[in-house]
Amino acid sequence: MREPIRNGPIQNEPIQNQFDISGLDLPDILGTIHEEVRPRFGEGRAADYIDALAGVPLDRFGMALVTCDGRVHEVGDSRERFSIQSISKVHTVTMALQAVGDALWERVDREPSGDPFNSLIQLEYHRGIPRNPFMNAGALVVSDVILSGYGQPEQALLEFMRSRSGSTDVGGDEVVARSERESGFRNIATANFIRSFGNIENEVDAVLDFYFLQCSLSMDCVDLARSVQYLARGGYCNASGTQVISTQLATRINSLMMTAGTYDAAGDFAFYVGLPAKSGVGGGIVAVVPHVMSLCVWYPGLDDKGNSLLGRYALHRFTQMTGLSVF
Ligand code: GLN
Repeated sequence: MREPIRNGPIQNEPIQNQFDISGLDLPDILGTIHEEVRPRFGEGRAADYIDALAGVPLDRFGMALVTCDGRVHEVGDSRERFSIQSISKVHTVTMALQAVGDALWERVDREPSGDPFNSLIQLEYHRGIPRNPFMNAGALVVSDVILSGYGQPEQALLEFMRSRSGSTDVGGDEVVARSERESGFRNIATANFIRSFGNIENEVDAVLDFYFLQCSLSMDCVDLARSVQYLARGGYCNASGTQVISTQLATRINSLMMTAGTYDAAGDFAFYVGLPAKSGVGGGIVAVVPHVMSLCVWYPGLDDKGNSLLGRYALHRFTQMTGLSVF
């Protein structure tokens, strides 16, 4: 295993809240952001390479945050469900780490790629080891790890999402999953290419089916903000009251989100937003303020990197107005 920095002892004590947010008028801040984005509805493009997402209207915007002490603030279409797409990569990497721990890093690297989320280009150089778990190639290997590591992987995924979000009816959207399979030439190629290097163990079709299911999950901003609370709370989930992963792993998933969660715009996200974040081509972005809150914003119009255009703006304004940033 490539481990240039030696692990110290497992750190599992939640760090104290570094920010005092008691003076912030969070509903007012969300309201201001909503006012600012409304005149810009229509900007960006829906993910038209997936037929089922192409027609999503560009007049929807929702934002929700869940503080570590359980308060929820929301604005706009925060209770409308949308296709979570690559946001699910945060949850599946967590499941894979639960199953195999650090052995995951023998099969997926932890470096930003600087290339688009669906790029295959570096796979040849790196002999089928994807650069990180948040690009499609990495998520396909993660799917393979989950297929080998869980008796009923689909059920395990649904249970994970339901217990993290506290929303018992979270499920996949069959129309989206089918549409992804029909237009999934790149993902199909990527999975086969990785398999040719021996870094996929299961049937390629089974890996793809699992991957399309996770991408097709339909959730709203409040569900999604809740679903990543464990990353704000040092590995503890407040919906289920359980420890999902160690504090150390929660910290590390946050670091991966910071360096690779928004693909080849991760540098810009660090620059303008300064929070670990994970986007999906459904237009959702989740973000984490460690020890303080988790957030989700949704606007289906994407920028040229596949990140929600107004979602990115909203998070930028949020950190600007609140001063909340990991930097
Ligand atoms: N399902 C999409 C794909 O595989 C997910 C990509 C994304 O959300 N960035 O292309």
